[in-house]
Amino acid sequence: DRIDLRRALISVSDKQGLVDFAKALASRGVELLSTGGTAKALRDAGLDVRDVADVTGFPEMMDGRVKTLHPAVHGGLLALRDNAEHRASMEEHGVAPIDLLVVNLYPFEETVAKGAAYDDCIENIDIGGPAMIRAAAKNHAYVTTVVDVQDYDAVLAELDANGGATTLPFRKRMAQAAYARTAAYDAAVSTWMAQAIGEETPRRRAFAGTLAQSLRYGENPHQAAAFYTDGSARPGVATARQWQGKELSYNNINDTDAAFELVAEFTEGPAVAIIKHANPCGVARAETLEQAYRRAFDCDRTSAFGGIVALNGRLDAPTARAIAEIFTEVVIAPEADDEAREIFAAKKNLRLLTTGGLPDARAGGLTFRQVAGGFLVQTRDNGHVTQADLRVVTKRQPSEAELADLMFAWTVAKHVKSNAIVYARDRATVGIGAGQMSRVDSTRIGRRKSEDMAEALGLAAPLTEGAAVASDAFFPFADGIEALAAAGARAVIQPGGSMRDEEVIAAADRLGLAMVFTGQRHFRH
Ligand code: 5GP
Repeated sequence: DRIDLRRALISVSDKQGLVDFAKALASRGVELLSTGGTAKALRDAGLDVRDVADVTGFPEMMDGRVKTLHPAVHGGLLALRDNAEHRASMEEHGVAPIDLLVVNLYPFEETVAKGAAYDDCIENIDIGGPAMIRAAAKNHAYVTTVVDVQDYDAVLAELDANGGATTLPFRKRMAQAAYARTAAYDAAVSTWMAQAIGEETPRRRAFAGTLAQSLRYGENPHQAAAFYTDGSARPGVATARQWQGKELSYNNINDTDAAFELVAEFTEGPAVAIIKHANPCGVARAETLEQAYRRAFDCDRTSAFGGIVALNGRLDAPTARAIAEIFTEVVIAPEADDEAREIFAAKKNLRLLTTGGLPDARAGGLTFRQVAGGFLVQTRDNGHVTQADLRVVTKRQPSEAELADLMFAWTVAKHVKSNAIVYARDRATVGIGAGQMSRVDSTRIGRRKSEDMAEALGLAAPLTEGAAVASDAFFPFADGIEALAAAGARAVIQPGGSMRDEEVIAAADRLGLAMVFTGQRHFRH
């Protein structure tokens, strides 16, 4: 299963490491074939190269759209050398075998990430490259395929260990990686195109990403993990610049994403979210980011320790100083002042990320969840209600102030694991109940958290008294409403739609609550 390496076809867009690798091949007696730009780079470095155009008898044409798409190339990659008929065809048509294919593709993903125009992205869809990669990888019984600059050294090591030949297990591994690359490439094209034309049907989407980073481990230390980008260039943890601190972990990335997606809901004025285990433990809006941070922190100071903080505006020095008062894992913001960065520089373990902008909370896109034997795909929860969509169902109308808090609590509840109950006052959360199997339990937990904070802060009464409350889904029974009223809440926002809505509304009326229905649910599991 050893194949001596005699002839290589090299056609690369990313010319990093190319000359050194080609020299190493040439010094081992390998003949080099190349396309235009690659051949030029090799010749400039003093290497002997044969042009593919010379092999095909056709010039490269149509802006490079047609370079290697020719039987002289594909025959050389696909021929079974031990097959008499294939050998006869090679002889008849003057096709020479190619033992090594080195291709990296037109930089489609990078072109999209740069925000290039539609036609420019289209022109950066490589056609001949993937065709050759797929051909060479199919014929791994004879051919070695290299699609990644990172693998050049492995090829040389393989040749040196096997007297200038490659082994079948090595060629199989390279073929497997080659198909991963072409699959990811076409998936990137499909993903970009879906976005470009506004196509949101999960049925017609390919799923793959580009490996951005191998992670030290997954959710737990015994799990291996990696981070893939989807090419959408949505501002967030995948595209952020990290200014300091060690590498983000799997859980950090997950939580940072949750935090940033939440604050991105608030586009009018400063907002801050603090996240633990993918749930917010405090969210607030205020006049300044510093105030918003302090108010978010006061929702649940205990849980905020070691949390992830997301800001919807430029991190300034006063906010940085406030955040630096306790241990925080990650801070993510669209931008950061120099002075703020200096304050964080003293905190070696704190990671600061800037994204250059906020993602559009209303944007479409898909989300994934794995189940045994498959995965579920759905459009993003970009649902949104305005005050005009609300239906008041109780005798008492909510006041203007209550309405503002109801809208705020509703937006936060969308980002809390179900069953979600969010108590808010003056555009700050004051108690959050997350992830319970019963809604009434979430109600009680939010209240208890608020009581604990009132005690810690020396307040006369917990802030849930007089609060507005959001519930991500309807109350199936009146007991949830009764528990909210017992906590002192005054206004409620929920989707409505329960079989027992009448009972629930009657309870609210009896207890003097104002309640509005949104007609939209925000389950988050
Ligand atoms: P070069 O810089 O050598 O002129 O071009 C290298 C690039 O061309 C590689 O990324 C390779 O995948 C791509 N390529 C090779 N053959 C073809 C072809 O026939 N059509 C297209 N569109 N691209 C090709």
